[in-house]
Amino acid sequence: MRVEPNLDAIKGGEGIVFVISSPSGGGKTTLVRKVMEQLPGVRFSVSTTTRSPRSNEREGVDYHFVDRGVFQDMARRGEFLEWAEVLGNFYGTALKNVELLEEEKIDLILDVDTQGARQVSAQLNHAVLIFILPPSPSVLKQRLMQRGLDSPGTIQFRLANASKEIQEAQKYHYVIINDRMEEAVDQLRAIILAERCRKRKKTILNKKAEQWEEHHGKNYSGGLSETGGKPV
Ligand code: 5GP
Repeated sequence: MRVEPNLDAIKGGEGIVFVISSPSGGGKTTLVRKVMEQLPGVRFSVSTTTRSPRSNEREGVDYHFVDRGVFQDMARRGEFLEWAEVLGNFYGTALKNVELLEEEKIDLILDVDTQGARQVSAQLNHAVLIFILPPSPSVLKQRLMQRGLDSPGTIQFRLANASKEIQEAQKYHYVIINDRMEEAVDQLRAIILAERCRKRKKTILNKKAEQWEEHHGKNYSGGLSETGGKPV
């Protein structure tokens, strides 16, 4: 039986950007969807791409589908936080996706490849990087074949690309092995909650310092304020 923790941290986001990368077929989409069902305050950043939509994909939900000309114009106007060419198509995160997150009490999940992750972490130094690993190359191959979206040639191409991507996992803050989905969901959820608690530390301690001052007079914070002040 799952015991739901009664934490303020699950009521809303803290404006944190979570960057999630995984080789195609790593199970990232399902994982992210399940975590979003369980945790309020998490939004998925809908990327812009020049790739054609797959039969199960919807405009504005999975991606914003545009032609190369539109994409290049957006890039020229500086409308992307990051963009990259992946397997012959362009993909990018619009800058407007990362605006107003703190005000809206939202955390944002970016599903980007390793090139995109590098660009995001260079620009947003508090972004949290999470890599989702398939349990093994053979499981990845099996998953790609089962989902039936790619030709055998594309599957080979994706597998070769996956092994390159996996070498980048070292640079991420967290790695989750997506073997059993429920466990992977629990881990991603735990990471988001822990990062929310970390971000809230400053706010909590400043608030506590004010309470102590009310009781003990100005400049008393018992070591709780940002400066770690002692009674003076
Ligand atoms: P797919 O075509 O299978 O949806 O995605 C192919 C790859 O593009 C995946 O590795 C995915 O993470 C990456 N991708 C999706 N959106 C973006 C984006 O906005 N920026 C970057 N850099 N990569 C993206």
